Amino acid sequence: ERPPQETTSVPKGGVENLVIIGSGPAGYTAAIYAARANLKPIVFEGYQSGGVPGGQLMTTTEVENFPGFPEGITGPDLMDRMKKQAERWGADLRTEDVEYVDVRNRPFTVRTSETEVKCHSLIIATGATAKRLGLPREHEFWSRGISACAICDGASPIFKGQELAVVGGGDTATEEAIYLTKYAKHVHLLVRRDKLRASKAMQDRVFNNPNVTVHFNTETVDIESNSKGQMSGLKLRDIVNNEERTLEVKGLFYGIGHKPNSQLLEGQVDLDESGYVIVKDGVQTSVEGVFAAGDLQDHEWRQAVTAAGSGCMAALSTERYLTSRG
Ligand code: FAD
Repeated sequence: ERPPQETTSVPKGGVENLVIIGSGPAGYTAAIYAARANLKPIVFEGYQSGGVPGGQLMTTTEVENFPGFPEGITGPDLMDRMKKQAERWGADLRTEDVEYVDVRNRPFTVRTSETEVKCHSLIIATGATAKRLGLPREHEFWSRGISACAICDGASPIFKGQELAVVGGGDTATEEAIYLTKYAKHVHLLVRRDKLRASKAMQDRVFNNPNVTVHFNTETVDIESNSKGQMSGLKLRDIVNNEERTLEVKGLFYGIGHKPNSQLLEGQVDLDESGYVIVKDGVQTSVEGVFAAGDLQDHEWRQAVTAAGSGCMAALSTERYLTSRG
């Protein structure tokens, strides 16, 4: 099929059909579908405060589980392909951060530092950000020993067969620890408090697994490295007696949660207590014509393929919504 021609859709009365906010797998997939449906979407890709064009996968190296790439593909390459596909079908991509959204009045308003756009429908795909500890050498080892996704990175050669650590005491951390036992030699769960916050079932799984050691009252202070610049261990502090020690591990996984990037929508669409957008029918927010896709509304699966899937659903739902209002 050929891409649509320039003349196919002219927004009426200066009001755009659709604005998409975000350029991760959810935003670009929504853009591909919406552009192919001739909705002429404008996509605000995000720039600085909101993240980088391409989203979270721009911060990783190999993506080994996105279907269609049997040899794997780097995160930036995958996102570049999605971007090109959206462009090829005529999506209007703009590297700007959205600073303000008004979905209380129709048409909706979307404002960046450079533009204000009115639109009949909106797909928000601003993603989520993995919480970080802010360790002094964290930046140096991010994606080179530190990961925030066991499912994504656990089987990677740098972690396979190694002693690994997971930070956190809730369901995310315990699930990551159990998952990593499939590949790791041993997993250390580093818990700041004197107990786990995880569900009873997850606690039982952790305590009954001989390949997981739980270290309570333990704060992670920094990364230690060997002469090749690789992670060789963690400097830990016992918060009861303040003593410091080294734990020899080759990898550190953060299981301290994610923060959905939903600030733009506060007070305008329903959010849950953690800030995730509440959706029904997969992608519909509490405001008709406003759809949310990807990690912004998904605290469970958080994968590129699921984000892309919900971006597709959001675009198809938008098309139906616009058709139904004539
Ligand atoms: P994101 O990718 O978070 O994209 C959000 C987008 O919104 C960004 O483009 C950002 O710039 C934009 N944005 C935010 N605020 C604004 C604003 N105000 N204005 C304009 N734009 C804005 N998943 C896998 O399936 N396989 C993997 O191997 C894998 N590896 C990972 C490795 C790492 C290090 C991380 C952090 C995640 C990994 N994931 C992996 C998870 C995957 O990256 C996410 O599930 C996926 O990116 C979510 O897509 P999204 O489109 O919802 O959001």
